[in-house]
Amino acid sequence: MERIELKCLKCGDVIWSLYPGHMRWCSCSAIAIDQDEYMSRFIGRKEDMEVVSNDK
Ligand SMILES: [Zn+2]
Repeated sequence: MERIELKCLKCGDVIWSLYPGHMRWCSCSAIAIDQDEYMSRFIGRKEDMEVVSNDK
């Protein structure tokens, strides 16, 4: 299963959502990630984040 990870360029945290409805914030609260049944959603400014996709 593909896991989307989001890296915060401000604090360096890498966050991911474990299951639909699970929302995670990075330490500095600049960005967050959550997901629904079909897709991941990113919260925050695009300039502050870097998407890391792990295809397994
Ligand atoms: Zn952060």
